Amino acid sequence: MNVLVLNAGSASLKFQLIRTDGEAVRTDGDERLADGVMERVGGEAVITTRIGQLPRRTTTAQLRDLRAAVDWLLQWLVASEGSGIETLQDIDAVGHRVVHGGEHFHASVLIDDEVLRRIEDAIDLAPLHNPANVRGVEAVRSLLGAVPQAAVFDTAFHHSLPERAFLYAIPYGLYRRYRIRRYGFHGTSHRYVAYKYRQITGLTHEQTNVISLHLGNGASACAIRGGHSIDTSMGFTPLEGLVMGTRSGDLDPAIPDYIAMKEGLSETAVQTLLNKQSGLLGISGITNDMRELLAEAAESDDRRARLAIEMFAYRVKKYVGSYLAAMGGADAVILTGGIGENSHEIRALALQGMEWAGLEMDAAANTALPRGTAGRISTDGSRMAAWVIPTNEEVLIARDTMRLVTGLPLP
Ligand code: ADP
Repeated sequence: MNVLVLNAGSASLKFQLIRTDGEAVRTDGDERLADGVMERVGGEAVITTRIGQLPRRTTTAQLRDLRAAVDWLLQWLVASEGSGIETLQDIDAVGHRVVHGGEHFHASVLIDDEVLRRIEDAIDLAPLHNPANVRGVEAVRSLLGAVPQAAVFDTAFHHSLPERAFLYAIPYGLYRRYRIRRYGFHGTSHRYVAYKYRQITGLTHEQTNVISLHLGNGASACAIRGGHSIDTSMGFTPLEGLVMGTRSGDLDPAIPDYIAMKEGLSETAVQTLLNKQSGLLGISGITNDMRELLAEAAESDDRRARLAIEMFAYRVKKYVGSYLAAMGGADAVILTGGIGENSHEIRALALQGMEWAGLEMDAAANTALPRGTAGRISTDGSRMAAWVIPTNEEVLIARDTMRLVTGLPLP
């Protein structure tokens, strides 16, 4: 079955066309037929596309909205040789990455009017993301008619958090009235690496006791015990937790008001400051890009670049320690995301000095691990292992969509 996976943002559309079925799931034989990114949708969009393993191509097109972007994409798929799509009927289903499922959605679902209404209801909770997801679903409906569509939620994997982990210690009535609680995000990524870890180690779902660290431009940690997420670092919004590219992560809740007062900023301006001007960018004053920061630290020994790197790694380590306590120990720490998959420096900084917890890093294996591959970076004798596992949210979205459409049970 050909599943078009869409990840719609406020001005962007990422896509992958994945061929999958029950057999592909068993053999890991899912095939990525095409993928790409459309940026600056709403004006002169920059579009990068790729067919299979061919080189990427970049082009531009005037795309006034998300519907125009989906339209362009469908026409491109039909027109491109090797995409596996000759007519629009060759697209069997569409799977959407939906950021916020609120409290209602515990798993992926087929989209009908009721589901769409509930995703709209969650707009209040994810004002930046869910409106784009809704528009994406509507665009597909208007362009592809009755093709089945599924929603895969970033929050769903964390539905298993116990109350003591998801509640904030604020008056309980606020949770009742406004559903203010920890939701957690990056769920599909944490779920994917836990699945892949099981596949590599031969362990069962129940035996999966790991700490998953998704370290990208957005970053989060997840404590997975018995295969279930029992705690995670992002909260009511993706702002909480680790230091990120431009997000502050944890901070004293008194700080935003104090900044507003001192700087004469509105609440919205402070939120923007914490989401877009903080984190690695805020500390270094140079960039939110970890690769550039590492280069800056190495080449010009820039003090603030170094500080940003140290703060990033320190916060990761703090979370690993606290989740070890929360879980009563873990068998492995798994690193993923752009930084986790590619930067042996950050992996070493974040996880060194944890012999007390039974984690002995294998420095040579860590440095030698080729980019984009899974591998263990702890020593053979290490009581707790450390693994790098490249994430692949799209393949889980495609598989969930295929399962829902064909009536196979969700895992
Ligand atoms: P997003 O959260 O936007 O999906 P990614 O998972 O792609 O982000 O991660 C982007 C981050 O990964 C950037 O900070 C980038 O610098 C970092 N990164 C990518 N490659 C490397 C590398 N070789 N060394 C260090 N950091 C890297």
